[in-house]
Amino acid sequence: MRQKYIFGPVISRRLGRSLGIDLIPHKVCSLNCLYCECGPTTHLTIKRQEFVPTEEVISQLRQFLSRNKKPIDVITFSGSGEPTLHSHIGEIIHFLKKHYLYPVCVLTNGTLLDRKSVQRDLMAADIVIPSLDSATLRGFSRINRPHPKLDIKSIINGIASFNKRFKGKLYLEIFIVPGINDREDEIKALIKATKKIQPDIIQLNTLDRPGTESWIKPASKSKLQQIAGQLSTITKVEIISRKAFKDREDLKKKAIPRSIRGRIVNILRRRPCTLSELSLILGLDKKEIKREIQEMKIIQQKKVGSGIFLTLKPALSD
Ligand code: SF4
Repeated sequence: MRQKYIFGPVISRRLGRSLGIDLIPHKVCSLNCLYCECGPTTHLTIKRQEFVPTEEVISQLRQFLSRNKKPIDVITFSGSGEPTLHSHIGEIIHFLKKHYLYPVCVLTNGTLLDRKSVQRDLMAADIVIPSLDSATLRGFSRINRPHPKLDIKSIINGIASFNKRFKGKLYLEIFIVPGINDREDEIKALIKATKKIQPDIIQLNTLDRPGTESWIKPASKSKLQQIAGQLSTITKVEIISRKAFKDREDLKKKAIPRSIRGRIVNILRRRPCTLSELSLILGLDKKEIKREIQEMKIIQQKKVGSGIFLTLKPALSD
C-alpha cells in the first residue's frame, strides 16, 4: 500500500526525528499565511470534514509502525494544511496513544481551538503547538489572511481555555514578519495574549525557507532577540534556529533507497528543503541526490537568507 498520509521520519528543527501524518489535501486551510511553505491556500475553509478516510490512515500507520526500523522521536500531525480541519483527528490520536509509546504532537494554526469538539480531540496529545502571529485584527488579517468568519479574540480565548485543561505541553509559535508584527503595539498585544494563554514555551520563528509571498524577509537576529527579551517576562522563549538541525548530523544513516525520486517529490510537495536537509531525511549522499534532481528536471532552486532551497516547479506542487 502506498503511504499517502504518512511521511518521513523527517528531521524537525524542534522535535527531532518526526513521523508526519498529513490528513488534509493540499492546500486546504482556515488561513492563507504570507509565509506558508506550502504555497497559497486554494480552499479557505473552517468546515471540519473527514478529508481523507480515517480507516485508511490508521491502517497505514499500523502497517508502517509494525515494520519500521528507523528511530522516531515523535509522531506529528502536520503537512500541507490545517490538521484540526479533519473531523476524526481525535480518533487517530486515540489509536496512537492506545497502541504505541511515541509522543504525539499536533502542529496547528489554533484557529479552531475555540470549539469544544477540537479541544476534546487534541486533549490526548502530548504536545500541541498552536501558532499566534498577531493578537490584533490588523496583524492577523495582514499576516494570516484568515477565513472571514474567524475572530482573533475568540481564537486567543480558545487556546487559553484549551491550555487550562490540557495536561501535555503547549508551545506557542510566533512567526515574525518584519514591518508587520515586530512593531511595539503588536508586541504589547502579543504579551497580553500570551499572559492569558500561559504556554510552556514561546517559540519565535521567522522566514528560513521560501514562503508564499516572495517579498517577505526574515527578521534579523537582533530583532528576534529583542522580542524574545520582551516576551521572556511571561515564560521561556526559544528562537528557533537552523543550528539544532545541523547538530543532528549524527542521525545521518545510509539507507538503500526505493524510488528516491518519488520520495524527493513527496518531501518537497510538503515543504522546501535544502540539499543538506534532503540528504539527512533520505539518508543519502548529497552528490547522489544532486544527480537525481538534475535528471528529474522538475525541481527549482530558491535562495532565502543564506540558504538555497529546492522546491517543485509551480505546476507540480498542487
Ligand atoms: S502556514 Fe499553516 S496555517 Fe498558515 S496557511 Fe500554511 S498551512 Fe495554513
